[in-house]
Amino acid sequence: MDKVTVNEVGPRDGLQNIQNILSVDERLKLIRSLEQAGIELIEIGSFVNDKTVPAMSNTDVLINKLGNIDNYSVLIPNKKGLDKAKENGVKEICTVLCVTDSMNQKNINQTVQETLNDLKEIFKEGLKNSIRTKCYVSVAYYCPYEGKVDSTYVNDVIGQLIDYKVDELVIADTIGAANPKEVTSLLSSLKSQYKDTSFSCHFHDTRALGLANVYASLVAGINKFDSCIGGLGGCPFAPNSSGNLATEDLVSMLEMMNIQTGVNLDKLIHSRELASEYTSLSLKGRMI
Ligand code: MG
Repeated sequence: MDKVTVNEVGPRDGLQNIQNILSVDERLKLIRSLEQAGIELIEIGSFVNDKTVPAMSNTDVLINKLGNIDNYSVLIPNKKGLDKAKENGVKEICTVLCVTDSMNQKNINQTVQETLNDLKEIFKEGLKNSIRTKCYVSVAYYCPYEGKVDSTYVNDVIGQLIDYKVDELVIADTIGAANPKEVTSLLSSLKSQYKDTSFSCHFHDTRALGLANVYASLVAGINKFDSCIGGLGGCPFAPNSSGNLATEDLVSMLEMMNIQTGVNLDKLIHSRELASEYTSLSLKGRMI
């Protein structure tokens, strides 16, 4: 593999759950600085309930200020979010399915089957409106409530999402519990079974296995990864899920392996400093 695409999710996954709520202008400046560092794809925000996730309110205002939004995606939790995405000219939406009932109930108060039914409609609507659809397959390896998730079951759920014509599946180790052996095994099996489907990966560095799991995914032929500047974020409903894989760590390892990312590390460190300043957090990617 000689090229990997980095999808920066810091402005959404990283900021949604922190105490310091950034202004729209700060969110805009952070996104611009990531773009200047060479990041091509950015998940810029979400259309969720302002009261539940105040950090993501005014995503419509942000979109307006960003202008051309071809390289941005926005997370939506339901059909209402899809309507907002359509109103705002969003080109790519991210949806979420937690594959265990316990986690899905915590996340959006639905069973897996209920969410699957909704997603079927959302993907159909996306296709009709030329909106690209992504789905996070959350807790794909381990669930904080149900433990290890059976890979045959995950495979079946993914098969349904593919039948519903989703454009990309993001296989997520939401609590950072998977090990590289499990990662290569699941992803190799998915890649060989669903040859025409786009897969990418989302890792958390909870147990310092983020990069090892990226390598395990490269081995399985995955060439697109989510990451968060400075390792911001976590998951509000998954205990101990803090620590998304840091973008600077991901880029640093890939570049050392002569895998092109198009990202300039020095400029990326500037983005991390900006993120630290705005969030008042001392961000902890290992790359210095
Ligand atoms: Mg995450």
